[in-house]
Amino acid sequence: MVSMSETIFSKIIAGEIPCLKVYEDELVFAFLDINPLSSGHTLLIPKEPAPTLDRLSDESAAAIGRVLPRLCRAVMRASDATAYNILQNNGADAHQEVMHVHFHIIPRFPDRPSGQDGLGIGWRTGKLDPDNGAKLAAAIAANVSD
Ligand code: AMP
Repeated sequence: MVSMSETIFSKIIAGEIPCLKVYEDELVFAFLDINPLSSGHTLLIPKEPAPTLDRLSDESAAAIGRVLPRLCRAVMRASDATAYNILQNNGADAHQEVMHVHFHIIPRFPDRPSGQDGLGIGWRTGKLDPDNGAKLAAAIAANVSD
């Protein structure tokens, strides 16, 4: 059986695979993406080898929450970007390739709009049905505690 920890990101944390590290503390690790969508594309990961965000411990989640805004500021200053996207994929159907929680920080530039710098965003919205929406909101609210 393949252990949850046996991803390329665990090997990066362990120093078994090289990376361009930008930050590390007891609980999180950050490095440049090897196939950047734009200049400065950075990944922030917990050291805990949770495959998806919903399986991350509160302790690691808090550590990510503490470091993510700080890292965004650093990436913005270093890349001279005017904006950035945070992308966080969970599961193969959501385009996740490495099954270890990671947050993409993707700098954006005014002369390279969506689709021209590697990140294209399709935002085809629907309309929230009031009845179905009320049921969904109640079901989600009832499940928040666990
Ligand atoms: P995702 O599709 O959200 O799972 O993204 C995984 C990301 O990990 C991709 O953007 C890859 O370019 C990146 N990646 C994979 N291997 C490495 C590596 N050895 N060093 C840095 N980034 C990597």
